[in-house]
Amino acid sequence: MRLSLFLFASASTFAQGVINDVTQLNPIPVARVVTPTSIEQIVAEVKANPCPISIGGGRFSMGGQTATQGALQLDMRQFDRVIDLDRQKKEITVQAGITWRKIQEFIDPHQLSLQVMQSYANFTVGGALSVNAHGRYMGMGPAVLSVKSIRLVLANGDVVLATPDTNRELFYGAIGGYGAMGVIAEATLRLADNVKVERRTQLMPFTAYADYFQKQVRGKTDIIFHNADMYPDAFESVRVTSYVKTDKPVTVADRLIPIDRDYRTLHWMHLVNSEWPGGKLMRQFFGEPFLNRGEKVVWRNYEASYNVQELEPASREKSTYVLQEFFIPVGDLNSFAPKMVQILQRHNVNTINISIRHAYPDPGTLLAWAREEVFAFVLYYKQGTSHADRHEVAMWTRELIDAAIAHRGAYYLPYQIWGTDQQFHKAYPRADEFFALKAKVDPTYKFRNKLWDAYYHPVNLPASQAPSGDPAERLAKTPITSGTRRRRI
Ligand SMILES: Cc1cc2nc3c(=O)[nH]c(=O)nc-3n(C[C@H](O)[C@H](O)[C@H](O)COP(=O)(O)OP(=O)(O)OC[C@H]3O[C@@H](n4cnc5c(N)ncnc54)[C@H](O)[C@@H]3O)c2cc1C
Repeated sequence: MRLSLFLFASASTFAQGVINDVTQLNPIPVARVVTPTSIEQIVAEVKANPCPISIGGGRFSMGGQTATQGALQLDMRQFDRVIDLDRQKKEITVQAGITWRKIQEFIDPHQLSLQVMQSYANFTVGGALSVNAHGRYMGMGPAVLSVKSIRLVLANGDVVLATPDTNRELFYGAIGGYGAMGVIAEATLRLADNVKVERRTQLMPFTAYADYFQKQVRGKTDIIFHNADMYPDAFESVRVTSYVKTDKPVTVADRLIPIDRDYRTLHWMHLVNSEWPGGKLMRQFFGEPFLNRGEKVVWRNYEASYNVQELEPASREKSTYVLQEFFIPVGDLNSFAPKMVQILQRHNVNTINISIRHAYPDPGTLLAWAREEVFAFVLYYKQGTSHADRHEVAMWTRELIDAAIAHRGAYYLPYQIWGTDQQFHKAYPRADEFFALKAKVDPTYKFRNKLWDAYYHPVNLPASQAPSGDPAERLAKTPITSGTRRRRI
């Protein structure tokens, strides 16, 4: 069966605005916000505006990756239609502002499921492909593995198709390229079957996990989702969870998590975990056993439809929940982890969780974070919003980046931009190739945001168009207030 959908277009333009992200740490004033609903409107805006343009998806990146001062903001969230579903080939073509959730609602009745996405379904396809996201899937890795093709709007307004064979450079530059090569307007994604999965979970010492993973998890095709959560502050034990294909009847009737679910209990649990004395032990010994009680058999789409609302605090004014992520070659799991733990403990980081996930190597993106088979350490923590708190985060983030680099690893780029130029080039050794391609397809540095303002140094630009500088410079200018360094938020 092949479904083709007709698309209708209308556009909105708003005057000046301030773009921020989920952390509320990065307000950025922009010149104008445009919400295109057709590819023609994207092309028209790109052609009509000489400089600069930044692209926003769900705005869940955490360091200004979606904006820069005074730019035109392309807010992609209303460019969100399904263009085509090929049920036989198990492929879907979508406009890039669509969220995973909206795709899930569309494909679920066809018993299909996404192959790779993050743990939550709120992200847009354009934002997820631009960071080359990953999830808890076994046997997969970076999202590029599930992409058949993309259509890109380049800086000169040309619309090009890019696949691993056609315009290969652009395909591997734009995926994981944080909006640097142009606007990802459409994507064709490969789909999987929506199967039933059964949760299997157990506790074990962290030191037993690497061996367990190799023997019980790696290469097992019936395991769909898998991760291991390290419990702070001791980080000595992990809860290992796999969702395994099953024919058993579901224990949850919903096919997707209801959009209006009540998250008050989870919000309270996060508060206890992050602010109460002994809260982390309460989570480990009461909260998690409670959440993992009994048998759970659900549809794959259900397990892939978590909502970031479950994490949202009552206020982000004085403190905020934030992520960092580090990718380490699989063989270095046991040698990297103690160094990471030591840094977190020394800086008294209010760690909420560290989720360990697996990824097979990236097939060729220029900014690949999985240059070989890796484990991702997904660090979820709470920090204060003052200058001093941010300064402290910058310090320990750099220490963690150094530790990752020492293990031939990488840090993830959608989060706060604290890595220095040198760290960036060590973690992403093909960055010069990436920048050479950018200079070729975007010679006036039209597509920009805070990430590229920090790391991209184009030559021959008029001073008025020059980017705002290296993060080291910003960090050096950030005042630090004594007495706040070891405070816990
Ligand atoms: C609670 C939470 C959980 C997370 N879990 C995971 C996880 O499990 N795995 C993981 O990999 N990541 C995870 N992330 C990070 C997340 O994947 C990224 O922040 C991702 O970019 C979010 O998508 P978005 O639509 O919000 O993108 P945005 O933040 O809006 O954009 C991200 C980048 O993509 C660019 N971009 C957006 N749309 C387009 C487009 N159409 N064309 C070109 N460039 C574009 C933007 O300019 C920006 O540079 C998590 C983040 C949060 C807040």
